[in-house]
Amino acid sequence: MHILLVEDDLLLADGIIHALKKERLTVNHVVLGGEALNHINVEPPDILILDLGLPDIDGFELLKSIRKNNVTLPVLILTARDMLDDKLCGLDSGADDYMTKPFELKELIARIRVLVRRISSFNSNEIAIANVMLNTSSMSTTINGENLHVSKREYMLLRTLMENANAILSKENLEQKLYSWGEEIASNTIEVHIHNLRKKLPDGFIQTIHGMGYIVKK
Ligand code: CA
Repeated sequence: MHILLVEDDLLLADGIIHALKKERLTVNHVVLGGEALNHINVEPPDILILDLGLPDIDGFELLKSIRKNNVTLPVLILTARDMLDDKLCGLDSGADDYMTKPFELKELIARIRVLVRRISSFNSNEIAIANVMLNTSSMSTTINGENLHVSKREYMLLRTLMENANAILSKENLEQKLYSWGEEIASNTIEVHIHNLRKKLPDGFIQTIHGMGYIVKK
């Protein structure tokens, strides 16, 4: 399990690295957002621990850039409390977890363990509902085993709906999800993508709940 730590507070970083190594996790540490992007491109980590207040790039902007290419990388955000209030709505689903500074190292490790377990148990990386299957590591979609061509945005929407099967997701929920992945959103973006997805999927797979949103039932 390989963890990338992006943190410009060297004392804090040292403490985190020491604690993670005791858990037998491999840690790489970078100070700048730019270094983090390079590192992720060359050697994608299994988990990212990201400080929001970085010297070169705002951590939230960095997360948006990362999400453009890497939808699934688990990200734990470290942030000062006052910054959290500003960023919380935007963070939404772009991050998998967050901790406000100051925090107990023990708690950070416990949360990393949860992410590690989640990665291990999701290793099959497949979500199947009826005859539609998504593979979240290859980002591919199949129907009855036949490859289905969907755009990146369509994939993200379909994945969000399937991961939240049996829940009604509003247009705003879905917009926020695309936004957290670094996508620009026009006012009719969601309707257009849902329309196009429906042409490719079995009849009734994505249902509209009038005035509320969309649902995939399993
Ligand atoms: Ca900082």
